[in-house]
Amino acid sequence: MKTGFIGLGRMGSAMAANLLKAGHDVTVFNRSPEKSRSLLELGAHQATSIAEACDGETVITMLADDAALTHVALTNEGIVGKLSKGAIHISMSTISVALSKELAQAHARAGQRFVAAPVFGRPEAAAAAKLFIVTAGDAAAVEACQPLLGAMGQKVFSIGTEPAAANLVKLSGNFLLASAIEALGEAIALVGKAGIDAHAYVDLLTSTIFPAPAYKTYGGLIADNKFQPANFSAPLGFKDIRLTLAAAESLRVPMPLGSLLHARFLRVLAHGGDNLDWAAIGGLATQDAREH
Ligand code: NAP
Repeated sequence: MKTGFIGLGRMGSAMAANLLKAGHDVTVFNRSPEKSRSLLELGAHQATSIAEACDGETVITMLADDAALTHVALTNEGIVGKLSKGAIHISMSTISVALSKELAQAHARAGQRFVAAPVFGRPEAAAAAKLFIVTAGDAAAVEACQPLLGAMGQKVFSIGTEPAAANLVKLSGNFLLASAIEALGEAIALVGKAGIDAHAYVDLLTSTIFPAPAYKTYGGLIADNKFQPANFSAPLGFKDIRLTLAAAESLRVPMPLGSLLHARFLRVLAHGGDNLDWAAIGGLATQDAREH
């Protein structure tokens, strides 16, 4: 398929590479143009403006946050102004429920289609085309996106016709991941201070009662006390907890654990943690347990 791809960060660059490897015709655009170099070598076309990335049947966005996607989609020279009628914007960033609703309306007014398709999986999974993709939108539009989604993920889940539902599911998943990171961090601090080997402890847990990928990945990072390089940065993790709490507030759902996680991320960022992985909240309990 002929598609544009906007947002070549840690995730987007790996995802666009898999589209090219699967034979799709991909035109890439990124705010910092140097990030497209390796994709041009794989056969991508370089767009010099957002408009140039909008002349296919679809345009995919994989941007940091609401502010970035608002800038790329909703300003004068943005996607809504440039995409053809009937074409599909596939929004794969982790964004707010409110922005997803606003985009769905703006695209509908412009005669375009909007599919939300946020993903689970870190950049390693993106590079291996092993993402789990949660989609929602008009059924025919979601179906039309399958060749692209199938080239980026190992499984695609379709959860309905309201795009914002996919964004809410994604946010709820990151809330659960952050909760697991905090819980692992506290448990590892406890056994670690008693002199028990953290790696052996994580091996025990993940080969018995918690054989989940999240516990393996984050238990390993916390046991290593290694939060750099950031594969998923602490500011983006903080963003997801803020967006979860905003959705909870609008739906009137008390989420006390969400408020605790908000404070944990704020502590990491207040101590200069902008370049750390979001798993750094899992290192705080060990720091707090130190005697000096
Ligand atoms: P990243 O490496 O920080 O890349 C962010 C991208 O957004 C870059 O292309 C950046 O452009 C662009 N951007 C940021 N602000 C912008 C603005 N104001 N205008 C235009 N472009 C802007 O982030 P990532 O890790 O790839 O994450 C991308 C999205 O996927 C986020 O929503 C994140 O929550 C989600 N996600 C991440 C992971 C993960 O493990 N990393 C997993 C699942 C989902 P520049 O290159 O010019 O800075």
